[in-house]
Parts: sequence; structure tokens; C-alpha cells
Amino acid sequence: MNDEVARSRGVAVLGSTGSIGTTALRVIARQPGRFHVAALTAFANSALLESQATLTNPTFVGLVSPNGVKPPESWRLGAASLVEAATRDDVDIVLNAVVGAAGLDATLAALEAGKRVALANKETLVVAGELAAAACARTGGEIVPVDSEHSAILQCLGRRDRTDVRRLIITASGGPFRTWSSAAIRSATLEDALRHPTWSMGRKITVDSATLANKALEVIEAHFLFGIPYENIEVVVHPQSVVHSMVEFVDGSVLAQMGVPSMELPVLYALTHPERVRDDGVPRFDPVAHSPLTFEPVRLSDFPALSLGLEAGRNGGAAPAVFNAANEQAVALFLEGKMNFADITASIDSALGQLGTMNGKDKASLLAADAAARAHVSRRAENN
Ligand code: NAD
Ligand code: MG
Repeated sequence: MNDEVARSRGVAVLGSTGSIGTTALRVIARQPGRFHVAALTAFANSALLESQATLTNPTFVGLVSPNGVKPPESWRLGAASLVEAATRDDVDIVLNAVVGAAGLDATLAALEAGKRVALANKETLVVAGELAAAACARTGGEIVPVDSEHSAILQCLGRRDRTDVRRLIITASGGPFRTWSSAAIRSATLEDALRHPTWSMGRKITVDSATLANKALEVIEAHFLFGIPYENIEVVVHPQSVVHSMVEFVDGSVLAQMGVPSMELPVLYALTHPERVRDDGVPRFDPVAHSPLTFEPVRLSDFPALSLGLEAGRNGGAAPAVFNAANEQAVALFLEGKMNFADITASIDSALGQLGTMNGKDKASLLAADAAARAHVSRRAENN
């Protein structure tokens, strides 16, 4: 065995206290000698971060916002700690599991430093997909997706060229309102929206899964990750969340990747790609127990956030950043009980109508569009 294979690789887990972050720590703990935790960061919740640090013994711990709790002396504080964690010499892989555009700088900095980014933070690619691609081309940094759909596509693609691909088919669970009437969806409560049928996730992505804004973010993410034009990316509803996505090749063959709805495999694969390693902890798939598998079209008129996001993706410029920021702000207000469910999508629509043609030529203009969209949604909510 040569040294390169034998060396344990350091992983920075950004957003370690969240749903993906805690999953990642479980997955890494099952691979001693292959991976170790080199850095941890979280927004708040320092008690959990502290116990994670005690268990994994990283060389760096960052806390964005201490929230009144006094953290240990050795911890780095503030938003800059994300970038610091992402660019350390002892970090080989940056697992970005931060929620929202707050994860952008860390992704870009890690790519600039030539690192692998195991990316759960899909908002990064939606806000700045072109900047991330340019950074990869310049430095040899790479993005390996953690999102289950994109992990599935990557696994189906193997080493084949994108010119062999006719179509990507991204599956969607349909969320908690898949079978609800239009009127019932409009008056859905926060509690309804947080009751996801197949996945247990952070609150923001759970709401995104109820509006289907999450699928729009994922189509844009797929466009940038795999270089496939928007017209060749489709979404189909698959309520069981067992087929994680499919790739149709030019000869008509369709490959799908399947497994139980668990993020452990996509997290592990993002660390090991293109290799596979043994992990007996990932729940096994039983085709009989998981049958039947069904597919149905998306009810586009009842989930307009999906079409709005796809249009923003096709329009390009700062439109995807506006879509993302308006959604983040609206979901934050919805989670605080200050906005109703239907107004999330109405806010996005309004922000895109007002700001969707802003230019997105560089990071400064994308951040300006992001800030303008958040302000627009907040103002609109105050006036309603
Ligand atoms: P979560 O809310 O459970 O966790 C978010 C983590 O990020 C926490 O550790 C939190 O402390 C940290 N954080 C929050 N705001 C921050 C900020 N401003 N600066 C720095 N850190 C901050 O979210 P999650 O469900 O784990 O999702 C994380 C990302 O992964 C999201 O982009 C989501 O879309 C994506 N994702 C999640 C799942 C899932 O199963 N949960 C699946 C696919 C993709
Ligand atoms: Mg997903």
C-alpha cells in the first residue's frame, strides 16, 4: 500500500451540528484510518459543538455566533471561521453542510485552495455556479455533490462523457402536500410543512421540499455540476424516495441509482468518490419491502416555486441568486410565523419580477442581488 492510500484524510465539517453535519460525523467515525475530523464549525448550539469537538478532537473549531454562551478559549469566533476551516493545510476535504448562501465564501475559498468540496450546501451553486466552476478550472479543486439526487447522477454517469447523456431525470418525493388540493396547500400551516413524508432534514430544506423550491435549486445545481442544458433536465415525482435519480444516455438506456432514503451513503460517497469503501452501517435495501415504486408528473400549477426557479436558472445572470435569496428570506419569515405558506412563492415571484434582470457578472454583483432580494421580501412582508 503506498503512502497516499494509507494516509487518513482530514475533513472539515462545516455546519457540523445540523442534519447533514451530524450524519457526516457518524459516517466518518465508521472509517477510522481513512478519514478523520480536522475541523468543525457551527452557527450556534455550542453545547453540541463542544461534545462533538470532545469526541472527534479536531485541530480547529469555529463558532459563527456564540449566542450568549461562553465558548472555550481555543475556538475561533465569527463568520470568517468558516473560510479559515475550509482552507487549512490539514484539511483535505471540506464537507459544506451549512444551510443557505452563508456557505458560499467557504466553498469558493476551499475551491481556490484546490480542495475537494463535498457539497451539501446547494445554495452555493445556485448563487454562484459559474464562479465555482471557474475556480475548479483554475485550481484543480473539485465539487462532489452530497445531495442524494446529484450523488445518484454522478454514480450513474461513472466515467462517461456528458456528450453520451440525453437527459437527467431528477426524482422528487413530492413533499407533504403531494396529494393535497390546491386550496388546502394555500392554507398549509408551519406544522404541516415540516412533516416530510420520507426524509428527516433541517427546517429550511424541509420547507423547500414542501414548496418544491428545493427541486428548482437541485435542477440549477445539476446544471452547474454536470454541464447539462436546462432543457435536458426533467423532474418526476417518486413518493418512495428509493430511486434517487436517473440518467438517460443517447442510446436510450436509462441508469438509476437506488437505496433506502438515508443521507449516509451520499455523504460517504462524496468523501470516497470515485472509489467505494465498505460501510456496513448504511441501511440495506430490500426491493420487496420497498415495493411498489411509483412515478407521477409534478403538479406544476400547484407548486409554482419549481417553475419560477427553473425560469430563473434559464435566465441566468443574477436571477438564480435572487430566487435563492428571496426563498431563504421568505422561508425564514415563514419559520418565524411571520408569513403564510402561499406567500413564500408569491414573495419569490415578486422579487424575481423586480430584480430578476440584475447582472451577475461577479461575486459583488451576485451578493448585491442577494441582499436586494432579501430586503425586497422583508419589505413586502411588512407591508402585507
Ligand atoms: P440544518 O439546519 O440541520 O444544519 C445547518 C448547519 O449549518 C448547522 O450546523 C448550523 O449551525 C449551521 N449554520 C446555519 N446557519 C449558518 C450560518 N449563517 N453560518 C454558518 N453556519 C450556519 O440543515 P441541513 O438539513 O443539515 O442542511 C444543510 C445543507 O445541506 C442545506 O444546504 C441543505 O439544502 C442541504 N441538504 C440537506 C439534506 C438533508 O437531508 N438534511 C439533504 C440534501 C441537501
Ligand atoms: Mg436532494
